[in-house]
This record gives sequence, C-alpha cells and structure tokens, in this order.
Amino acid sequence: MTDSPVWHPFTQHGLNEPIPLVTHAEGALLHIEGGGTIVDAISSWWVTTHGHGDPRIVAAIRDQAARLDQIIFAGWTHEPAETLAAGLRRIMPPALTRVFFSDSGSTSVEVALKMALGYWAHRDEPRARILVMEHSYHGDTIGAMSVGARGVFNAPYTPLLFDVDTIPFPAAGREQATLDALEAACRGKPAAFIVEPLILGAGGMLVYPAHVLAEMRAICARHDVLFIADEVMTAWGRTGTLLACEQAGVVPDILCLSKGLTGGAVPLAVTMATEPIYAAHLSSDRARMFFHSSSYTANPIACAAANANLAIWQDEPVADRLADLTARQTTHLAAVAALPGTANPRQLGTIIAIDRAGTEGGYLAASAPAMMAMAREAGVLLRPLGPTLYVMPPYCITDDELARVYDVIATLVTS
Ligand SMILES: *Cc1c(COP(=O)(O)O)cnc(C)c1O
Repeated sequence: MTDSPVWHPFTQHGLNEPIPLVTHAEGALLHIEGGGTIVDAISSWWVTTHGHGDPRIVAAIRDQAARLDQIIFAGWTHEPAETLAAGLRRIMPPALTRVFFSDSGSTSVEVALKMALGYWAHRDEPRARILVMEHSYHGDTIGAMSVGARGVFNAPYTPLLFDVDTIPFPAAGREQATLDALEAACRGKPAAFIVEPLILGAGGMLVYPAHVLAEMRAICARHDVLFIADEVMTAWGRTGTLLACEQAGVVPDILCLSKGLTGGAVPLAVTMATEPIYAAHLSSDRARMFFHSSSYTANPIACAAANANLAIWQDEPVADRLADLTARQTTHLAAVAALPGTANPRQLGTIIAIDRAGTEGGYLAASAPAMMAMAREAGVLLRPLGPTLYVMPPYCITDDELARVYDVIATLVTS
C-alpha cells in the first residue's frame, strides 16, 4: 500500500501506519483484504445508520442509476428530488418549508451561512457576524472551519478564516454563563447562531441538556437572530429521535442534514429553511436569487437512496431498533464506566463516550492512534477523539458484534 498515490484525509502518511483495504461490508461488519473482519463501531465516520448494504437502499441506487444518472438542477428537476423534498416536508418540522440540496455536511453549512447573510442583505438590514459555540465542528471547507473550533487542524488556514463570536460550551454547572453570553452577543445583531444540538461530535462527544438548547433557541428568537441547527451528525436517529432538536421542542430557522440522509450509502445533503428566508430571496430581480450550486446538486441516484431511507423510516420499526440499541449501549457503558481508567461516561441515544482517565487532552493525544491501532488489530474500527473513546454503531449491530467492541474497549482502558 505504500506505493499508492492516494493522499488520505486526516492521515499522516509520514508515519507509515497501515491502511487496511476494505473489500465489502454488510450490516455492521467490514471485510478486509486477506479475509479478516472488522466491526464498524463508528458507522464509517457517523454516516451508516441502518447498516452497510441495506437491500432497499442498494436496490434504489441500482434502479435509479439505470433510469437517470445525473441532470443539471438549476432550472430543471426530477422525480427523486421532488419526492425527497416532499418527504422531508412531511417528516421534518412544518415551519421548514424549503429544501435546498447540496453534497456534504460542510456544504450544507456553507449554504446555511449564505442563506442567513442573504436573508439580512435582501431585507436591507445587512448583518454579517456569526455566533458559534466553543468546541464546535461544522466541516472542513473555509466557511465551515471559520464557524468551528480553531486548533491544530486549521492553524495553517487561520489567515483565511473569518471572525466569529464564540459563546462558552454549557458544561455542567456553567449553563447560565452560556445563556448569558448568548444573550449579550445577540444584542450586537449578528446574522445567525449556528450550533450542534445536544452533542458536540468532533469536539469530543460533549453532551449538554435539552433545556439549554431550548433556552438558546428562545434567546435567538427574542433577539431576531437566525438559529441554525447543524444536525449533520445528530439527525436520523443517532440521538434516539429523528432530530436531536425534537428532544428540546426546538424548531430552527435553518436545518443542516447530511450523513444519515441516504442511510450513509452515497453523499447528499440538504439545508432546510423557513418561508421568510426563502421569501427574502424571492423577487423579479435575478440579482436576488440564491447564488449557490454544485455540479451534482440533488444528484438523482443520491436522492433515490435518500428516498429509500425515508421509506425505511416509514415502514420499518426504526424507533424500536433505536430504543433497543440505546438500551444495549446503556448496559455496556455501565460496565465500562466501572473499570479503573475511565472518566466522564456519557450517552445520548445510540452514542456513548468515555474519557481515558489521566491521558493528555487534545486531538493529537499520543494515545489515540495507539488505541486505534490496537482496536484494529482486535477487529474493531474505533477512532478516538484525543482521550475520548466513543461508540456510535449502525443500528443493526448484533449483540456479538457489540460485545466484541466492548471487549476491545475494556482492554484499551485497562492497558
Ligand atoms: C461531519 C460533520 C460535518 C461535515 O460533514 P461532511 O459531510 O464531512 O462535510 C458538519 N457538521 C457536523 C456536526 C458534522 O458532524
């Protein structure tokens, strides 16, 4: 593999760490070259919801690829996109009346930020500041990095990143400080506040209570600041409900969805917006249209996969599967949390996380790659965030597969 011209993401090729070749996958199991199997304990980086190779999603992709593979979406449309937009309208909060397509979580965030600035510009009340929460992650493009935490992963690019106002993370006991900071920042008339609802993923699986999310939403509403929910990781059942916002009774002005939108099979994203945001762009003046597109906007094959995902949510007992996985995760977490060497056990729906006590913090904590390598050797795909170990499996993971994951975790935290 060392001769490969491939330049991998978030990979230091200078360390010559092995890069396994995955040949095929089904459910929660990956098959690697040479015959071994690996349990996918992180849903292939948080995207795979129902499981790899879900037959309904595979069939939808195959069928759509043969029918219509790709078509320009500026001024043209197709059935899979229309069906998907209508389907999202049915299951997402009714206030989110408009569906804008793109290709990844990062672009759904870029679109959200552009919609927010466009909204204020077209109301002749230009606003440009964005409020963000400490430790957030919203993607790796320049705009998405600008609204995310600064650190080693974006240090060389900081000269290009725009300034934002950051409110503190609502750590236990310090929730009021977060709300006060948001209230104060809102007085400066920012365009929008963007936040990951209930759990900050890449920031370390940091959980905060639903009432804080609800209060943050209320503060933004009171000050006429647009509220952007980045549910790229949290949606599609991850946190136990279709949206994390649901658990706080929160309806955002703008909603970003991607990862599990197609069940994790192919890339697709949407940014949903309320009618006033759409209406602000509505005019007979072409200069006020929403200027955003990418070549593959609303790719029909990706939309067909997403429609199959919506069908699965509609006719299969997804809620029961989520409840079942959540309960199994709770049991395993309790056992792991009782081991010496663990700290801060936490869970939100199907996601659990613990910190390895006594390890140095930070994304580049030396223990993380070592733990990842040991897990790989033992047949489990884990990717710790610094000292934080988390498990976020596909919903179809079997008891045996989950047991393999936790055997490995027990070894990692006690070794
Ligand atoms: C993964 C993620 C993104 C970026 O999505 P990509 O598809 O990787 O561009 C944005 N926001 C959150 C909360 C994420 O977890």
